[in-house]
Amino acid sequence: MTPVLNLKSHLGGRWVERGGAPGETLVNPATEEPLASVGGGAIDGKAALAFARTRGGAALRALTFAKRGALLGGMGKALQAHRDELLDLSVRSGGNTRGDAKFDVDGAIFTLAAYAEIGQGLGEATFLVDGEGITLGRSPRFHGQHIAVPRLGVAVHINAFNFPAWGLAEKAAVALLAGVPVLSKPATSSALLAHRIVEILLEKQVLPEGALSLLVGPVGDLLEHLGPQDVVAFTGGSDTGLKIRSLPQVLRNSVRVNVEADSLNAAVLGPDAAPGSETYAFFLKDVLRDMTQKAGQKCTAIRRVLAPAPLAARVRDDLVDELGRITVGDPAHDGVRMGPLATASQLRDVREGVSALAADGRLVFGVSEVVALGATPGKGFFFSPALIEVEPGADAPAVHGREVFGPVATVVPYSGRPGEAAEIVARGGGGLVASVYSEDAAFTVDVVLGLAPFHGRVFLGSARIAEQSPGPGTVLPSLVHGGPGRAGGGEELGGPRGLAFYLQRVALEGSRPIIEKIAGVKSS
Ligand code: NAP
Repeated sequence: MTPVLNLKSHLGGRWVERGGAPGETLVNPATEEPLASVGGGAIDGKAALAFARTRGGAALRALTFAKRGALLGGMGKALQAHRDELLDLSVRSGGNTRGDAKFDVDGAIFTLAAYAEIGQGLGEATFLVDGEGITLGRSPRFHGQHIAVPRLGVAVHINAFNFPAWGLAEKAAVALLAGVPVLSKPATSSALLAHRIVEILLEKQVLPEGALSLLVGPVGDLLEHLGPQDVVAFTGGSDTGLKIRSLPQVLRNSVRVNVEADSLNAAVLGPDAAPGSETYAFFLKDVLRDMTQKAGQKCTAIRRVLAPAPLAARVRDDLVDELGRITVGDPAHDGVRMGPLATASQLRDVREGVSALAADGRLVFGVSEVVALGATPGKGFFFSPALIEVEPGADAPAVHGREVFGPVATVVPYSGRPGEAAEIVARGGGGLVASVYSEDAAFTVDVVLGLAPFHGRVFLGSARIAEQSPGPGTVLPSLVHGGPGRAGGGEELGGPRGLAFYLQRVALEGSRPIIEKIAGVKSS
């Protein structure tokens, strides 16, 4: 057998091989062909953090936002130059169709470019001035001003398996622009693509030394050495998020932790959006895209499809028809619309999850043994799309309580009343995104305001935006990403808003001229 590539970590300014404990073999999810191995041996987490803090942090903080933005521009260009290679790798290592691969890789490049532009806009400053100055005393001499300065720590980024390119880039872009060095840990199962990205960035020397480190494999002792200036941004399952935010050193040192976790995203069809209307077609297209893109392994994918009871059977039948046309198979083959799940354990989880959801109602689409185009029988982690329906008024605890991270959704009938739609969606306990498809302004306003407290983003699906919209499943760098409750309570991106996590806001209180000098604000 050909020896597979052993993925190294880049820590303390050099590539480090993790020996010791038996590692993990990463495979092509469509063929199960081994692609790479990852060692599980010890790392020197303390030294890795110290190196990033001192070298990378100092170099970044010395730069203005515009110059940091230029670094991000350089990163995007470096990846663009290797785009085809990265897309191929994404197809082979992630079970992605070429379209899925573009979603991840182009999403990474686009987000880097978006933050490069934000850096340009923030100009020749090294920290942010937050709001207007405030007169605190009887005379304007006693003055207050908030500023936000880069923290002196490391941004530890722990990512989920589903977006190895975008996940790395969207977090890194914001931290680097803020002036904080990054230590990125991709999920082990999809680390091959993240590893190649970091390799490219290091080869092209687009960043100062220490600004970007990579940890492949388990976290080892890294998190034990987090200090009060460090931050952790985590994306993954809520149980892992809970473990990280409960670590003694995280609690003791008040380490900032941002958690992006599970989400039972819902799409609500308005009673006015009758079959045959443009709004209905838009809704159906978005549900289908979310069920099948990346085989449903998208944190923002629609999991619950709320349809007014009189339309629910039609929605179900239309989805069943469309799902029947989806060709599942090895994404290396032409004509394949949906690839396999990413890992054997994902396949196990999704199988179990579908059984749990079906117990709340019934399975209306899905086969237990999918025939995968271009695949060797018995090989690959293939799963058929699955659609479940529940009765109107059903409690459906699994449907509203369990995220099945695959090509799976449930049709949930509701009365057509906006208040009831919002109440049913809220049973999900807080989500990343919810969507409403309607042209009825009064209905839309009521549902949107009912959903808003439970979500980080609400998508208003109207025929008027159908041509331009990528749908609710796409995270745009200019809008915040995150959600309350089950979704982790975190917030990322949102244009310059994302910087706040990496900056320390400080109130300056004193004599106006000196504060204005520090803040670089001219007296009026
Ligand atoms: P996961 O098992 O929680 O793993 C996420 C990351 O945490 C991986 O890098 C993993 O590393 C690491 N990890 C595991 N145990 C850890 C520990 N004790 N300490 C520190 N790090 C640890 O989740 P996943 O299976 O990769 O991703 C699926 C989940 O992510 C889904 O629930 C999905 O909803 C969620 N997700 C959310 C978003 C969002 O933006 N909100 C986006 C994508 C996915 P190893 O791989 O080495 O174990």
